[in-house]
Amino acid sequence: ESQAGAGSVQEIIELFAEVCATHEAELGRLDAVAGDGDHGQGMVLGTRGAVEAGNKALTRGAGARTLLVHAGTAWAEAAGGTSGALWGSALTAAGRALSDSASPDEAAGVEALLNAVEAVQRLGGAQPGDKTMVDAAAPFAQELQKQFQAGGGLAAALTSAAEAATEAAASTAQLKARLGRSRVLGEKSLGTPDPGATSFALLMTALAQRLES
Ligand code: ADP
Ligand code: MG
Ligand code: MG
Repeated sequence: ESQAGAGSVQEIIELFAEVCATHEAELGRLDAVAGDGDHGQGMVLGTRGAVEAGNKALTRGAGARTLLVHAGTAWAEAAGGTSGALWGSALTAAGRALSDSASPDEAAGVEALLNAVEAVQRLGGAQPGDKTMVDAAAPFAQELQKQFQAGGGLAAALTSAAEAATEAAASTAQLKARLGRSRVLGEKSLGTPDPGATSFALLMTALAQRLES
């Protein structure tokens, strides 16, 4: 028997894996413009590794916290690339905001998401405008915090935050990459949105839709 909240956390990881599988080719094409073209593959491998680790954790009776910490480690290992390391640390950081014994409430969910974004910023060291995942994740976190504090509830706050991430990800097309593999081909990336910002927005949109339904 698994601990409180672990099952719903695992469902979210499975949702992420489905979304990455659906968008694998598109994310690969975006990364091929100024990067090495493996972003779709990295996200698919990473989420698949996370699903497997999550299932193992569930079998052992892990709670939400432990499940996410293990899933994050597995994501980074299975994906290999930069975004895999960042997403891995994001899941692990999200887990550290939760407990193993209590089902996460809405405030804990927000805390977990904000922790995840913070981990990406800390580990990657990217600033807004560098044309990375942070360009979608930072406005997402800001909007999530603002809307949740306004009292509308998690699902509504997340929907509005995911919209902010989607707009911000699209706007990265106007930027030149300065970090990551695409930095050498920064000029080439003009006109194409950042792959990591795009996948971040896709995952948060799917999560928001899941919570709204
Ligand atoms: P790799 O660059 O190792 O092939 P991916 O193709 O999977 O990894 O991921 C590329 C994405 O990683 C970029 O589009 C960008 O969003 C993100 N990224 C790269 N470096 C950083 C960083 N320092 N901080 C945040 N995100 C980053
Ligand atoms: Mg790549
Ligand atoms: Mg690569």
